[in-house]
Amino acid sequence: MAKRKKKKNIFGTVLHILCLLLCIGILTALAPMVITLLANINETYDIPVISQTSAENTEEDWALLLVNYDHPLPSDYSFEILTLSNNEEIDERIYPALQNMFDDARNDGINLFVRSGYRDKEEQEIIFQNKFNECMDEGMNEEEAYQETLRWVAEPGKSEHETGLAVDINSEVSAEDTYNWLISNSYKYGFIQRYAEEKSAVTKVYNEPWHYRYVGIKAAKEMVRDDLCLEEYLENKS
Ligand SMILES: [Zn+2]
Repeated sequence: MAKRKKKKNIFGTVLHILCLLLCIGILTALAPMVITLLANINETYDIPVISQTSAENTEEDWALLLVNYDHPLPSDYSFEILTLSNNEEIDERIYPALQNMFDDARNDGINLFVRSGYRDKEEQEIIFQNKFNECMDEGMNEEEAYQETLRWVAEPGKSEHETGLAVDINSEVSAEDTYNWLISNSYKYGFIQRYAEEKSAVTKVYNEPWHYRYVGIKAAKEMVRDDLCLEEYLENKS
């Protein structure tokens, strides 16, 4: 009896082990499928949404910086400077968009280049003083010369060129063709004509068809669509 019982026990144990191995086998086979399924759910619904939102927010923070007669550049403002092949400098974050725009313009037969990019406060001081002296030489008194200079040159500390986000653009073709191309296309790359004639009452800067400012593609498209300058756009947003 004892012998038969032992045999039965051994048979039961082997059966248990076989069942266990089968279960492990099934689980092992299913595990990668479950993991892949979970990963796909994550990929399809969660990850892109989160990363897209944070990228947009991050860009808005720096690309919509307002510097004008009323808003001097913050004294602790800093960024990474990138030097272009003609030695003009820009904020490195706008380089990919600027390069794309220049590449596409070249394909349309217009070789754009940056005539003036980043300037520090000291360089802006020299430009302001030179324009002021020019006005004085034309016979204006100090107040007249100062006001006339302000129409053309931003005060040191209040120039967009000090942000590294603004560029004066020229090309080797006519000014008219250059500015027409820029007006029609720049917003697609995130750039806007910053000082349009019809907005000079708001910007306090006279028409500058060569001065372009990076604000990001989303903002640039909205500003063009709604005919807003940067001051108006930021006012509307707040
Ligand atoms: Zn400019």
